[in-house]
Amino acid sequence: MTLCIANGFVYDPVNGVNGDVKDLCIDEGRIVATVPPATRTIDARGMVVMPGGVDIHSHVAGATVNLARRLLPEEHDAHPAPRPELLEDEPLARSGTGGTVPTTFTTGYRYAGLGYTTVFDAAVAPLTARLSHAELDDTPIVDAGFFVLMGNDDYLLRLIDAGETAAAHDYAAWLLGAAGGYAIKVVNPGGIELWKRGSRGPTELDTPVGSSRVTPRAILETLVGAASHLRLPHAAHIHCNNLGVAGNVTTTLDSMRAVDGRRAHFTHLQFHSYGAGAEGRWRSAAREVAEYINAHPQVSGDVGQVMFGAAATLTADGPVEYLLHKSTGRKWVNVDVELETGCGIVPYTYKEKAAISALQWAVGLELFLLSADPWRVVLSTDHPNGGSFMSYPELIRLLMDRAYRDEQLAGVNPKLLAGSALADGIAREYSLEEIAIVTRAGPARLLGLSSKGHLGVGADADVTVYDKRDNVAEMFATPRYVVKAGTLVVEEGQLRRAPAGQRLYVRPQFDRAVESGLRRHFDQYSTVAFEHYPVRTLPGAPRAIAG
Ligand SMILES: [Zn+2]
Repeated sequence: MTLCIANGFVYDPVNGVNGDVKDLCIDEGRIVATVPPATRTIDARGMVVMPGGVDIHSHVAGATVNLARRLLPEEHDAHPAPRPELLEDEPLARSGTGGTVPTTFTTGYRYAGLGYTTVFDAAVAPLTARLSHAELDDTPIVDAGFFVLMGNDDYLLRLIDAGETAAAHDYAAWLLGAAGGYAIKVVNPGGIELWKRGSRGPTELDTPVGSSRVTPRAILETLVGAASHLRLPHAAHIHCNNLGVAGNVTTTLDSMRAVDGRRAHFTHLQFHSYGAGAEGRWRSAAREVAEYINAHPQVSGDVGQVMFGAAATLTADGPVEYLLHKSTGRKWVNVDVELETGCGIVPYTYKEKAAISALQWAVGLELFLLSADPWRVVLSTDHPNGGSFMSYPELIRLLMDRAYRDEQLAGVNPKLLAGSALADGIAREYSLEEIAIVTRAGPARLLGLSSKGHLGVGADADVTVYDKRDNVAEMFATPRYVVKAGTLVVEEGQLRRAPAGQRLYVRPQFDRAVESGLRRHFDQYSTVAFEHYPVRTLPGAPRAIAG
């Protein structure tokens, strides 16, 4: 299958291409230098051409997401998603439901329909990895993988207590391989375990988790060290302690300092960038966080922007959802995942007229607009926590169009915005090149996906073509063409093909000596046998680890 996309304005920041008129040649799923003259050609004159979108942090497949679907039957009723009209020779398309947590097939269709071709689920308990793989099998088009929750893992905490750092790194490698995951995820390190044991206070970096040797700081150091020692393509992906709490910026900056000088990714920064003003009132601390990141090139993050409207908050951070349930009275799910982590879900609505929602919205935008390096602070809404991935086009408009942003700002509750950078006025408008960085090139680089996020020869032929429009929200919501691994999946704005995507996972090397103690641990404490725990077969091959 060869294809040519001719004469578009190409945005390919990795290769220094910034809106130049160029032809793109595609053969066998890759970008190539030339194609034969008879090749099918899309005339992209006047259109904007970018690599396919790469979502570094979303929740789309697995036990938590599926539980959220079960918690929200009213959404299934309100948002039916009829099957798309694919071409005749395509396998049967599937209907589903939309809302804040779409069904698997609908998730794949909708991401592709937005021009996104790679997605990571950011939080999977290894015990439930099979379900995540099964759901990804049913999520067409996008290449996908997930991050494995380790920050409250019982065996890891025991190894830290015993001072066995090398064994802890081996165990992290074993867990990644057993689950078929891509990266190490840390959620509220130690805090979920403390909450499961009955603690209800805040968790600071040196709060002991049972033993004084086991602290959030020690867990962060161990897992950031593991990602580096194992040469994983992505840094440890960290959701800090005290998410959503006024004054939590202290914890966030302490966590960044705790791993100073080492590569670390801090996720949904917006939820971790709150100060506490007079009488504990919330205020924006986006400036402090942005300044720290600007000055520390090893640190990266994604924003976790809040968008007004319906959301579903779902996380391994059970204590957060407990508080949210208490404060909103909305329905709630809590699950303890034995020996590994927690899980909580609460539906939520962000309202323009609610002071805290307005502050959260402003904090996210400030993080984008104050960050000096778009390669290191990339776009997410922590779908569906801050808002649906379907709201990315609207978010892009807020970043690119100051007049529109100011108009929206004028309509939100200003009570907690005094002194915030956004209320003071930020002139910055993202360029198309910067949008291409925060939605494609940046996340691909942070994830170590060298063949994604760019359009150089040899790259995966994941390409999105947009009509150039004044309203960029409309432009980014309705790509004219989307190519996935060389296959034209969207044509003339319609989804026409739905091939399976690839699974993205790693299988790092480790010293097998760690397995003997681990086997005893399973025998003593787990309801699952050691032999039955690992995922057996996965599609494709694991990603190579750089030597
Ligand atoms: Zn998340």
